[in-house]
Amino acid sequence: MIQSLHGIGMTSQRTRNRMVERLQEQGIRNAKVLDTLRATPRHIFMDEALASRAYEDTALPIGFNQTISQPYIVARMTELLLEFGPRAKVLEIGTGCGYQTAILAQLCGHVYTVERIQPLQKKAKDHLWEMKLKNISYLHSDGGWGWPDNAPFDGILVTAAPSEIPENLLQQMAVGGIMVIPVGGSDSQSLQRVTRTETSFEVETLEPVVFVPFLPGRI
Ligand code: SAH
Repeated sequence: MIQSLHGIGMTSQRTRNRMVERLQEQGIRNAKVLDTLRATPRHIFMDEALASRAYEDTALPIGFNQTISQPYIVARMTELLLEFGPRAKVLEIGTGCGYQTAILAQLCGHVYTVERIQPLQKKAKDHLWEMKLKNISYLHSDGGWGWPDNAPFDGILVTAAPSEIPENLLQQMAVGGIMVIPVGGSDSQSLQRVTRTETSFEVETLEPVVFVPFLPGRI
């Protein structure tokens, strides 16, 4: 059952305010990103048994061996994506529980989100619908293909780690587009930001991260 958006009381808002203070201490600066995290209920994206832990800065299980990314990582990736201006068309790979999708949908023109595990995407869709976020399109697919019908994208955000950046995703970036993606194996991953210019792909390697693996096929 979907937890109601109502009847949460003040506790969640206060807890979210504290979460945002922690994110500021950790170096997140983009005011729009911070405001959006402050306003977005995170607990509705999680099973009721874990909802009370929703505002801890930690990754938590969402079923099917997957995790909801920790708030810091959601904030950091969104900030990196938006640093050089707003993004009208964003491709997200790894819908998971839909929390990162909710943040993107409030800050970008339209979000195209791809997930390989159908029941996860179904639940995410219900929660995002409950939040009245309508500027989202969903695809059940292996994100390694990207979403060619809607390319090019001026933003791509990937929430599972491939060992190398998938070529299809690079090809589906618009000139001036930005991709934020964790890259590496289970022992060592780093966050990377790719910017497509007229003539090349510029890659910045940022901090070390821990993500679930980017897996082939769909289930
Ligand atoms: N942003 C999500 C993160 C979920 S974990 C959240 O905060 O809930 C990463 C997600 O990526 C998982 O749901 C996993 O199933 C999905 N995933 C992994 N490899 C994928 C692929 N090749 N294509 C699409 N989704 C993939």
